[in-house]
Amino acid sequence: MTPEEFRAAGHALVDWIADYRTRLPDLPVGSLARPGEVRSAVGAEPPEVDGIEAILADLDRVVVPGLTLTQHPRFFGWFPANASLSSVLGDLASSGLGALGITWQSAPALTELEEACCDWMRQLCGLSPEWRGAIHDTASTAALVAMLCARERASDHAQTRSGLAGVGRPLTVYASPQAHSSVTKAALLAGFGLDNVRFVEVDPITYALSPAALEEALAADVAAGCRPAMVVASAGTTGTTAFDPIAAIVEIARRHGAWVHVDAAMAGAALLLEEQRWRFAGLEGADSLSWNPHKWMGTILDCSLLYVRDPQHLIRVMSTNPSYLRSPVDDEVTQLKDWGIPLGRRFRALKIWFQLRIDGVEEIRARMRRDLRNARWLAEQVEATPGWTVVAPVTLQTVCVRHEPVGVDGAPLDTAALDAHTQRWAAALNASGRAFVTPAQLDGRWMVRISIGAAATEQADVAAGWAAVQDAAAAAASAAI
Ligand SMILES: *Cc1c(COP(=O)(O)O)cnc(C)c1O
Repeated sequence: MTPEEFRAAGHALVDWIADYRTRLPDLPVGSLARPGEVRSAVGAEPPEVDGIEAILADLDRVVVPGLTLTQHPRFFGWFPANASLSSVLGDLASSGLGALGITWQSAPALTELEEACCDWMRQLCGLSPEWRGAIHDTASTAALVAMLCARERASDHAQTRSGLAGVGRPLTVYASPQAHSSVTKAALLAGFGLDNVRFVEVDPITYALSPAALEEALAADVAAGCRPAMVVASAGTTGTTAFDPIAAIVEIARRHGAWVHVDAAMAGAALLLEEQRWRFAGLEGADSLSWNPHKWMGTILDCSLLYVRDPQHLIRVMSTNPSYLRSPVDDEVTQLKDWGIPLGRRFRALKIWFQLRIDGVEEIRARMRRDLRNARWLAEQVEATPGWTVVAPVTLQTVCVRHEPVGVDGAPLDTAALDAHTQRWAAALNASGRAFVTPAQLDGRWMVRISIGAAATEQADVAAGWAAVQDAAAAAASAAI
């Protein structure tokens, strides 16, 4: 493809994207695709050479119906994933520049814009200059990197000798049972072993990690000859957006020399709002913090910030220095390859740079405050409606609900029947295309998360979503009873 051919096809693609985003509210929110449907639509044989028009037509025919539309105004699933168009432009610029991000020398602009961007985000979040950051693909990767740092600190850099096998006593990791699955995954990948991961009790009302239980778990492990290596504080748990008490966790972990990683993948965006920062009290005492601009802030996937307070330790754990990656200025520059796992990286800072320069942080903040108001409004509606409960405190923009109808005999449904009812109405709602929600388990029982935060979601959309939720639940209840 020549640059001139690219120009013509590119204009057609940009037009297609703008049209798609415009008509998105008229499409079903959840994908109605059946398993295997997309594969059979694209065919088993490699495709023939084709023009851009035919390819764009297939985006409409095959791809769009195969997507759950997270930018839809009635998308209330997992977490906000807005892919703001300003950041899409940055992503496009990244692709068009085609920079080879392997060392400072291969792309000084990529390295230095990423450093600058991480520092701007630090300032916008009200974090002290002690934090240094880099952009990773996801919070899962960030958690693994933090976990490896913790492992090496607790083992006095055992990786340079015989690794964990030579440590002689178990290194232990602590997190809330409400922590994201990526925390357990990172602990397993970092070699700690599931036997050495402790899921510490949470407060039964707030679902935040209990400091007293953490203290007890650490003391018991130390008495048993273990070496506590890391505590993960979830600032915004996945299920209910509960905030673990970071200050108390830091204080306890520090006494045992354990690394504290704050996983704020979703809720870290709330640091942009000064009035929400109290939820993160104690953060400055942690060792690492990750959060995803690609969630509520609206930057397009993938964009996850990982900040550490001791970059020299991180670099010591991550760095390699083969001859072919050296340059004369190595002493003066940052080598982002030594800040994480991959060598090559995309020019991700452009996404944030474009978003901050086109939308501006005040627009992002205003949108997030609107979402907080809408969540409070919804919680009030739910609480005021007979047969409905809000099952966990609403901290930010996620409202966890349950519909608890009574049976024909006027008695409450038993737990199994209620679980079946919850899953049935949520599935029916998602299949209707009217709105999209995420059923999840809390305390072993099913509930439904309504996560508000698509850029297009106004209060009227939340009201329409709540009406669709009630309709689905009423229909499921009358079918079951
Ligand atoms: C979404 C989420 C993750 C995982 O994020 P990825 O970037 O998809 O890996 C981890 N932790 C929390 C608290 C999350 O909300």
